[in-house]
Amino acid sequence: IIRFNQVNKWYGAYHALADLNAEVNSGEVVVVCGPSGSGKSTLIRTVNRLEPIQDGQIVFDGHDIHGSGIQQNRLRARIGFVFQSFNLFPHLSVVDNVMLSPVKVLGMKRSEAKQQALSLLERVGLAHKANAWPAQLSGGQQQRVAIARALAMNPPVMLFDEPTSALDPEMVGEVLNVMRGLARDGMTMMCVTHEMNFAREVADTVWFMDEGRILEKARPEDFFTRPQHERAQRFLTDLR
Ligand code: ATP
Ligand code: MG
Repeated sequence: IIRFNQVNKWYGAYHALADLNAEVNSGEVVVVCGPSGSGKSTLIRTVNRLEPIQDGQIVFDGHDIHGSGIQQNRLRARIGFVFQSFNLFPHLSVVDNVMLSPVKVLGMKRSEAKQQALSLLERVGLAHKANAWPAQLSGGQQQRVAIARALAMNPPVMLFDEPTSALDPEMVGEVLNVMRGLARDGMTMMCVTHEMNFAREVADTVWFMDEGRILEKARPEDFFTRPQHERAQRFLTDLR
C-alpha cells in the first residue's frame, strides 16, 4: 500500500534519508526504530508530505505522494497521523475534536459525524469524556482522543511518531493498548516508537534505521534475538 523507491532527502547539505527502498503492505504493522537523529521522524513525515523529498518516489495506493497530481488535503484525509504532542483543539470539546474533520473535510452530516465520534470514543475507552474539554483530560486520555480523531477520517493507513514518549509512564500502556487493538483489527500502521515490547508483540516487521538508512528489515522475533547489523546489535545492547 506504501512503497518507497530510492528515496533521498536532504536538509540543506545534510543527507537525512539515503537511498531508501521499502514497502508496507496492507494490514502490515511496521515499527521503525533506531537511535536519535537516525531519520525516523523524517521518514514518517515524508509519507503525509509534511516533509518534501528531493529524489525518488513514495507511492501510496498507486499515487506518487510527492507528485504534482496529489492534493495535500486529500492525502492527509487518507493517512492518519498521531505524534508525540496531542495537539487537540483546546476550545473544542472532546467529541467536537473528533467530529471536526469529517464535517469540514468530508462534508459529513453533523449527526452522522457525532454518532461516529461517539463510537470511536467508545473504541478508545473514552465515551464518558465526550463532553469534556481537552484540558480536563490526562495526557494518555488526550492521546487516545487524538487517535480517535485520526480514525474519524477512516484512513487506510495510520502513522505514529512516538505517541507515548511525552506521557507519564503509567499512561503509556493505555495508549499502546489502543494501538494494539487497531493492529488486531487489521489497520496498516507505521509506528516510530521506543517501546520495544510493543514492537516485539505487535510488529509484523521492524525497520532499524541509522544515519538516514534502513539498515535492517526483519520480523521482530529475528530482530530481537539475532540482529544482523552490528549497529543494530549495539542499539539493542544499549537498551538493556
Ligand atoms: P529522534 O529519535 O530523536 O526523534 P529521529 O530518528 O526522529 O530522532 P529525525 O528527527 O528524523 O530523527 O532527524 C534526522 C536528522 O535530520 C537529525 O540529524 C536532525 O538533526 C536532522 N533534521 C531534522 N529535522 C530537520 C530540519 N527541519 N532541518 C534540518 N535538519 C533537520
Ligand atoms: Mg523523531
